[in-house]
Amino acid sequence: MIIVLKQNPNQEQYDQLQKWLKDQHLDVHVSEGKHSTILGLVGDTSIVDIDLVSAMDIVENVKRIQEPYKAANRKFHPFDTEIDVNGAKIGAGNFAMIAGPCSVETEEQIISIAKEVKAQGATMLRGGAFKPRTSPYAFQGLGGDGIQLLLKAKAETGLPIVTEIMDLSQLDLFEEVDVIQVGARNMQNFQLLKELGKIKKPILLKRGLSSTIQEFLMSAEYIMAGGNEDVILCERGIRTFETATRNTLDISAIPVLKEKTHLPIVIDPSHSTGYSKYVKSMCFASTAAGADGLIIEVHNDPAKAWCDGQQSITPAAFADINKGVQRIREDVKDLW
Ligand code: PEP
Ligand code: MN
Repeated sequence: MIIVLKQNPNQEQYDQLQKWLKDQHLDVHVSEGKHSTILGLVGDTSIVDIDLVSAMDIVENVKRIQEPYKAANRKFHPFDTEIDVNGAKIGAGNFAMIAGPCSVETEEQIISIAKEVKAQGATMLRGGAFKPRTSPYAFQGLGGDGIQLLLKAKAETGLPIVTEIMDLSQLDLFEEVDVIQVGARNMQNFQLLKELGKIKKPILLKRGLSSTIQEFLMSAEYIMAGGNEDVILCERGIRTFETATRNTLDISAIPVLKEKTHLPIVIDPSHSTGYSKYVKSMCFASTAAGADGLIIEVHNDPAKAWCDGQQSITPAAFADINKGVQRIREDVKDLW
C-alpha cells in the first residue's frame, strides 16, 4: 500500500500517522520528493482501513499495490536511485562504463587493461576472481589472489572494482571490493542474497539465465529487505531457443524495469551475445533504450584470454564504443 501525502503536511499529524502505522507492525519507507511525500507500507497491509487513511487531512491519495516487491518498487520510490561507488556514480542520469577482463589472469594483465580502459573512459573495472564455469576442468579463477591483483589495479588507476562472489564463505575477502557481483547462476541463491542485504556495499545483481523480470526484482528485494538498498540490476541475456548468440539480450527489459523499479540498470553485451563482433551494436542499442550503464569484457589479447576470449573486445574497440555511447547519450537525452 502507498500513501501520498499532501504538500507540506502538518508535522504533528504526520508523526501521528507514522506511529499509528508502526503500531500496526508495518514498516514505513518514506520517499520525499520536491512536491510530495510518499509512504510505502511494508507488511500485512490487509489490516489497514484504507477509507480511514484516505479521510485524514494530510493524505492526498492511498493505493493498494499488487506487486510482491516493495523496496525495489518504483511506486514506493518514484525517483531514480543514484548509487555512488566511491565517486563513480550510477543511476538518476549518471552512466557507468564498467570494463575489464572476464577473469583476472596476472598482475601485468589486469593492471595494463585497467590503465587502458581508464584512459578510454571506463568508470569502473571488472574482473572475475571466482569464476562460475560450466566445466569443472576449466580455469576456476585465481580466487583471493585475484582479488588482491584487482586491488593493485585499483590502487594504480583509482578505478572502483566490481567482482563476483560465488559463495558466502568468500565474503571476508571482499572487504575492500567496491561492488560485489552476484552472477546469473546465483541470482536465486537466497541465503547469499540475504547475507548481502546485511552489508553496506553496492551489489551488482545479474539476471538469472531463465528468470522472469518479476523473479529478478524479487531477488533484488531479498537484498534490499535486509537494509542494503544499493542494488544495480544487470541484464546479461536470457536462455531462448536461439543459438546464433550465446544468450538473447532482452533489451525490452530496460523499459520494463525502468517502469517497475527505481534501481539502476546496466547491460552486459558480452555474455548476452557471446561474440565480440556484436558488442558494439548492443552497447549502442542499450544506451539509446535508456540503460544506466554497460559492463563490457575487455582484454588486451582476446585470442589468448583464459576465459571468454571470443566475446572480449580490445581496448581500442572499447575506446571506439565509448565515443559512440557518449554521443548517443547526448543525442537521446532530450528526446525522452
Ligand atoms: C561474469 O560477469 O563474469 C559472469 C560469469 O557473468 P554471468 O553471471 O552473467 O554469466
Ligand atoms: Mn565472462
